Amino acid sequence: MKKLKKRSWAEPFKIKVVEPIKMTTQTQRAKAIKDAGYNTFLLKSDDVYIDLLTDSGTNAMSDNQWAGMMLGDEAYAGSKNFYHLWDNIKKYYGFPYFVPTHQGRAAEHMLSQIMIKPGDYIPGNMYFTTTKLHQELAGGTFVDVIIDEAHNAEKEHLFKGNFDIQKFKDLIKKAGAKKIAYVSMAGTVNMAGGQPFSMANLKQVKKITDKYGIRLWLDATRITENAYFIKKRERGYKSKSIGDIILEICSYFDGIWVSAKKDLMVNIGGFIATRDKKVYDAARNMVVVYEGLHTYGGLAGRDMEAMARGIEEMVLYDNIHARVGQVEYCGKRLEEFNIPMVKPFGGHAIFLDAKKFLPHIKQEEFPAQTLAAEIYLDSGVRGMERGIVSAGRDKKTGKNHHPKLELVRLTFPRRVYTQAHIDVTVESIVEVYQNRKSIKGLKMVYEPEYLRFFQGRFKKL
Ligand SMILES: *Cc1c(COP(=O)(O)O)cnc(C)c1O
Repeated sequence: MKKLKKRSWAEPFKIKVVEPIKMTTQTQRAKAIKDAGYNTFLLKSDDVYIDLLTDSGTNAMSDNQWAGMMLGDEAYAGSKNFYHLWDNIKKYYGFPYFVPTHQGRAAEHMLSQIMIKPGDYIPGNMYFTTTKLHQELAGGTFVDVIIDEAHNAEKEHLFKGNFDIQKFKDLIKKAGAKKIAYVSMAGTVNMAGGQPFSMANLKQVKKITDKYGIRLWLDATRITENAYFIKKRERGYKSKSIGDIILEICSYFDGIWVSAKKDLMVNIGGFIATRDKKVYDAARNMVVVYEGLHTYGGLAGRDMEAMARGIEEMVLYDNIHARVGQVEYCGKRLEEFNIPMVKPFGGHAIFLDAKKFLPHIKQEEFPAQTLAAEIYLDSGVRGMERGIVSAGRDKKTGKNHHPKLELVRLTFPRRVYTQAHIDVTVESIVEVYQNRKSIKGLKMVYEPEYLRFFQGRFKKL
């Protein structure tokens, strides 16, 4: 008799409302992807079966969050939902001051304008697209000081989001501490594949910023996932709660910014929270210009109530365990079929290694773009390219960047899909893998000037 291998968890919720999704035929999908110029960003959502494009704002809210929406206090000033959210930010993140924004990049814009002077440097653990753009628009230069392992898809490392302490010290020596606007740390690191930093590494960074009087800020958008990995992987944290780990992380920082569209399991929202009164005063003043009064920051009262309740749910162990567990389940099943992927598996997504998946397609023929289109064609599952198309061109020479990583990202919205959806996704990827030799690359026929991955169009070779 086969020995029972017990799985340790299932989703800590049941389904109350369902949203039907369209089942399409291969013929319909062939037309849809051709019409979309072989770019999954240009597909109509209605033509997508399982949507793994992003986990940003695509999460399922709980009944408690929806109930909270009905209690929206839509006063222009001083909404009670604002105060509920503020209370929870003090309680769960530990910061006394807070400014709401309509989403994460609005917080990045204001912080960059407030804290960066032209010519300043901002060190961080790998860039994030919108974060870096706002730092540059404020006249700063972002410097990547993440450990080398983060740039290597196959290299197994428990904390690929860690700062390389030597790189960080070298920058301080070269630029001078006064020229460093602030340290911009992120956890988990999205572009490295959803990889965490360790508490030990954060403490080392903090020692240095204290010594030189440099401000330390955190992109806490995915901090629940980072806290989960610390609990699972770092000595001394096994019996600590997710909530306590988040509070400890935040205790080392001067402030954080957050896109609530991720961990907080809402469809829109963001905020700044800090213990720095000066930055708070500046942000509270600036938010009125760009977002709205400081007690709503571009959000409806009901949105703030859903965020306040989302914070209470994000720290529940079973919730984050099931979320990261679903990603891991997908990765482990793909591993059984030797599908090439970034490892270890991240907190929010699986990254397929398109260079290894389609070795016969040259990087100039867009292997990751091709793979994302082929998976959609096979089953209606939508992922996205993270490779040569996303990397864009060199500003000076106009030539294509050739990133080391050529990936297709499959991102899992929180609480949205079932295990059967994951199984269908796995089966489709395996099917495409088994037929990979017959797949041909693409040629770009339309290239927009900015962020070409969103709107670029392709043709089959
Ligand atoms: C999504 C995201 C942002 C930007 O937030 P938006 O709400 O999309 O504007 C910033 N940092 C990280 C790590 C993110 O994942």
